[in-house]
Amino acid sequence: MKKFYITTAIDYVNGDPHIGHAYEKILADVLARWHYLKGDDVFFLTGTDDNAQKNQEAAKKAGKNTKEFIDENAKKFEELCNDLNIKYNYFIRTTESRHEKVSKEIFKIVYDKREIYKGSYEGLYCTGCEAFLTERELVDGKCPEHDEKPKKLKEESYFFKLSKYRNELIKLIESKDFLLPKEKKNEILSRLKDEELKDLSVSRINKEWGIKTPIDNNHVIYVWFDALINYVSGLDYPNGKNYKKYWPADVHLIGKGINWFHSVIWPAMLISSGIKLPKTILVHGYLTVNGNKIGKSLGNVVSPKFFIDKYGVDQLRYYLIREIPFGQDGDVSEEVLKNRTNNELANELGNLVSRVLTLTDKYFNGKIKGSIFNKELKTKLNLKKIESHIDKFELHNAISEIFKFISECNKYVNKEKLWELEGKKLEKHLYNLLESLRIISILIYPFIPNTSEKINTQLNVKQGLLKDCKFRLIKSYSTKKGEILFKKIK
Ligand SMILES: [Zn+2]
Repeated sequence: MKKFYITTAIDYVNGDPHIGHAYEKILADVLARWHYLKGDDVFFLTGTDDNAQKNQEAAKKAGKNTKEFIDENAKKFEELCNDLNIKYNYFIRTTESRHEKVSKEIFKIVYDKREIYKGSYEGLYCTGCEAFLTERELVDGKCPEHDEKPKKLKEESYFFKLSKYRNELIKLIESKDFLLPKEKKNEILSRLKDEELKDLSVSRINKEWGIKTPIDNNHVIYVWFDALINYVSGLDYPNGKNYKKYWPADVHLIGKGINWFHSVIWPAMLISSGIKLPKTILVHGYLTVNGNKIGKSLGNVVSPKFFIDKYGVDQLRYYLIREIPFGQDGDVSEEVLKNRTNNELANELGNLVSRVLTLTDKYFNGKIKGSIFNKELKTKLNLKKIESHIDKFELHNAISEIFKFISECNKYVNKEKLWELEGKKLEKHLYNLLESLRIISILIYPFIPNTSEKINTQLNVKQGLLKDCKFRLIKSYSTKKGEILFKKIK
């Protein structure tokens, strides 16, 4: 059995989750569920970054104790995963003791290798990014990511010899499939090639919040150094059963704003500490809402809960995956969500299920025998193409290809004028359509799992895997017609 280990970024818990968080989790969930369909042994890790200084600042602002504040917020992120029907294996929090232990351990390994040394740092620090920025990165003196002026900071700090890894990193990033998509790879490569790679400050003086360095009690581990380690601590590095089974990660799914940390800093940390490198860093774009960037720091938060409650979770999942080409930025528009729900989910998929199940129910009492098979529908399904889209992480193309098949099934119903037929003739067509629906319900499972389940219930079959996506697998049906799948939105 092949293994598949996928992670999302871990979220800062300085505020409520927004639609951008939801988007990343949905993308990861689609990939995780797809690999489940392939029969792989999947481990899916998500969670929260509790140790960031900006969590501490947000707690102060809210007049709350830091630990209580982040516990409350972390819970909202976990609830979001459940609301979105995210099938994660573990929700990690970086305040967990096992994570602290592993962070210290890895820091110590790198220190003992003499690749962490003491120095002092003076620079412009953006707490939004939790990083020092160069003058060049600023726009009008502000961090472009957070629209905030960075603070001047000068302090004693421990440094990681990141500079030493420059050539190795260039080679790594140039290698096939390490960093995707291509535009995101080129951005990092040109920065590595054109700019000097400086050593990284990996500690902060902070007595109140964060993980103490194992070598100096006045310093906590720089939050990025600690956060990245969640990907191995969540598997119980170095001796845990899960670590041995699942590491290295197959996919680290991240937003474009933290690409540098994942494709430069993280690999260097791993090489230095003698840990195997992840296979692919996969970068998705950002969402805007009506053209405006979403961000806690910017204030125009859009709650995923709003969309889930108003439209339904599968409607939101479908819309986000289908609408936004993977890797690109996308704009969230309620109008388009409504149109896609009505035209694609209700009119195409919902309608097909309803037509086939109604006829089966009305004329055959739900009982259909599959004596005659005709190849017509089978030829309309391009499974290879769907798989190849997913292998290239083109999830939007994969779902679109699946819906092409759904649309072909509807055309088939129209062409054969099923409502005018009866007896054996009708039974033959319905059998082929029921087999098509069963295959459709497998293929849509990663994208809209609730709907897949509802179709299975109506077909009265068990959830299948990709290997079951072939016609004539089930010889007879005894269906249970249910409610319509999607209500149209006015
Ligand atoms: Zn910033």
